[in-house]
Amino acid sequence: MEPFKARDRHICTMTKFKLKMMMFGKKKKAKESLQRFSESVIDTCRRFILDSTKSQTDYHDSLTKEVLEKINESLKENYKDLKTNTKFEIDLKLHICGIASREFLQMHRNFLLRRDPQKRLEESKNQYLSAFIDLYRERDHCQRKAQDFVQHSLRPAILQYIDRFLGTDIVDEMVISSHAAEYSSRSSFQYSILKELLEKDDFQAFVKYFEKYEIYVKDLICQHIKECFSAEMSFDMLKNKRLKEINQKIMEAIEKASQPLPNDTKSVPEFMKNLCKHLDKDISISMDTVEVVLFQISTTCDRFTTFLHESLNDLKQQMQDEFSKSIDIIESLYALPIKPQNELFMRVSGCAKQCPFCKMPCDAGGKEHRQHHVNAHRPQALGSYRSVQTQELIETLCTTDVNSNKSFKNGDTDWELHPYKDYRTYYPEWNIQPDSTAEASDYWKYVLATYNDRLAVMHNAKPAVIPEAWKSITKAQALEGLKVAFGIKV
Ligand SMILES: [Zn+2]
Ligand SMILES: [Zn+2]
Repeated sequence: MEPFKARDRHICTMTKFKLKMMMFGKKKKAKESLQRFSESVIDTCRRFILDSTKSQTDYHDSLTKEVLEKINESLKENYKDLKTNTKFEIDLKLHICGIASREFLQMHRNFLLRRDPQKRLEESKNQYLSAFIDLYRERDHCQRKAQDFVQHSLRPAILQYIDRFLGTDIVDEMVISSHAAEYSSRSSFQYSILKELLEKDDFQAFVKYFEKYEIYVKDLICQHIKECFSAEMSFDMLKNKRLKEINQKIMEAIEKASQPLPNDTKSVPEFMKNLCKHLDKDISISMDTVEVVLFQISTTCDRFTTFLHESLNDLKQQMQDEFSKSIDIIESLYALPIKPQNELFMRVSGCAKQCPFCKMPCDAGGKEHRQHHVNAHRPQALGSYRSVQTQELIETLCTTDVNSNKSFKNGDTDWELHPYKDYRTYYPEWNIQPDSTAEASDYWKYVLATYNDRLAVMHNAKPAVIPEAWKSITKAQALEGLKVAFGIKV
């Protein structure tokens, strides 16, 4: 499949806008930012699609709807900045649906393959064969029937039960793990991300954080889970806890299911029906496999339940042994029905709206707030703002500029100059406190000084002119600055 390419026809056809773009030679720039935006939407959607295909369920139309909703959300949020048109929307959606249709088709095929009647019959062939041999030799097959039921019906249902809880169990463990402090609030998490970025000293990681925030953060959360569950905790501990719990429930259900029945050879089918009913709210047992077990059964209820207990104990031991084997942690996270990385992301990402000038994420907690605000803004160069006259990236803070007589322009203002102090005409939902004395933290001064040239190349602009003093800030001072900005005791 061809990679997506932003084209001239995707840029808004408003004559005034187009004319301005031509005049300022910005068309190339507009196309480049459109390309970057498209790639980031494609990456996010691709990630969602792959996540969905890893859960062992069948395809459902709601999955495609969710993909389209994700695209709509991104388009709505970025429409003003990008000035795209319907052609762009259609091309982008077609491209992403192309990826989705191939992956979802494979998902559906895999699902059918698992459910293929011939394959399922082949699987039961040996059970039927043994039943016939036992019948022919007039041998007691009670023990084997109990084993078959435990292995073919209960085992998959128990595994499903454990997986269903594992996602939330992992989240519960993470918030009390050695990473507990980071996950305790949105701001401590943001602090830890920025601290880690500084320590990594990797420009590409910074770019991923700025441009693909959600993917960056989810990957980071997966890494944290991997670290925790390789050292201080283990998946098998959590799985064994749930195994013990469901085992107990099955024992109780066996007890209840056999109570009202006479101890004769006729009552086993009735017992099985009761057992499935009692377990119904916790696990679902496939009736196909129960039918195979009941085929030609001739034993008393008591004998059957005795062997059932025995087989259950064996199964418990067998599963515990399997759980203790090492696994690919990240791969298993994506296979869970509730993905812990998504749950944790929702807790720590806040409303995720970014300042229109410096692109710092909003600091107001949760989603329910009327005004977005940022506690400490950063130099606007990091939000890719440049001077119209000199094409140099701007090192000043948004708080300083909304207190000045300077003007800005962007897609929202139709590339017309507009006074910074009247920013609310275009951003009524933002509250940027004017403050001419506020300075960027040493952290952002250091980041801009370090990556100034590479940022300029990336944005097709000239490097920001920054005070000499910024260039001598050390990494250690940058970290101190970050601590101060987040109110962390030095
Ligand atoms: Zn800002
Ligand atoms: Zn907000």
